[in-house]
Amino acid sequence: MSEIEIKNVSKKYETKDGTVEALKNVSLSIEQGDIYGIIGMSGAGKSTLVRCMNFLEEPTEGQVLIKGRTLGSLSKKELRKQREDIGMIFQHFNLLMQKSVIDNVCFPLYIQGKKKKEARAKALELLEIVGLQDRAKAYPAQLSGGQKQRVAIARALASNPKILLCDEATSALDPQTTASILELLESINKRFGITIVIITHQMSVVREICTHVAIMKDGQVAEKGLVTEIFEHP
Ligand code: ADP
Ligand code: ADP
Repeated sequence: MSEIEIKNVSKKYETKDGTVEALKNVSLSIEQGDIYGIIGMSGAGKSTLVRCMNFLEEPTEGQVLIKGRTLGSLSKKELRKQREDIGMIFQHFNLLMQKSVIDNVCFPLYIQGKKKKEARAKALELLEIVGLQDRAKAYPAQLSGGQKQRVAIARALASNPKILLCDEATSALDPQTTASILELLESINKRFGITIVIITHQMSVVREICTHVAIMKDGQVAEKGLVTEIFEHP
């Protein structure tokens, strides 16, 4: 069974100017442990696809299966568990500015009802994994962009997710910082076997770490497969 299976998914939005077809018959299979790049220009449908994968949105047609299960098949409790299995990081990090680094990482753990001591121990372990254990008491405003993204990665890993969705996660970073974040993502993929989905408009990111790629254009998958096969000169 695939970790993520997108089957003939279409998504239409009704707007005052008429119907927008954000996704048109998209099919993808993402296997456990893949680093799967989804690349395309602005408006290609990437964010819509991510929201469908995260069960934030339901396709108009077709199915999104995470480990064989659809949104409709889950109870409220199962849906919450499912969301814990999917970590997310974003272009603008989305950290809580009024909270320290360690409290940012603890935040999802508190929401899950973890005790303070347990949450802080886990957060420190995660900060060590992302190389920021010595900045635990700092505030986001005191950190560089790359460091902020490391905090966001630690936070995303707090619930031991099976899947990490990265939505333009390196788009606000310079090339050198981008390379170090990609290296970190690769090491997390190897260490925990986490499936990583990378949404990007940057070809270099796909070439750098992805095992597979889908190229999106106007809501459709124009091409998909192994990066080594799609790009002639990797
Ligand atoms: P990308 O992430 O590749 O930039 P999006 O998924 O954001 O693409 O958008 C795909 C298309 O769907 C665009 O034409 C966009 O304007 C449209 N779209 C996305 N979300 C909505 C929405 N909530 N309502 C109406 N149209 C939307
Ligand atoms: P071990 O070194 O014992 O084989 P791992 O390297 O798999 O264990 O995990 C080390 C620590 O990382 C453990 O405390 C575990 O809770 C945590 N961990 C395991 N899987 C994940 C995950 N998907 N995301 C974040 N942390 C994880």
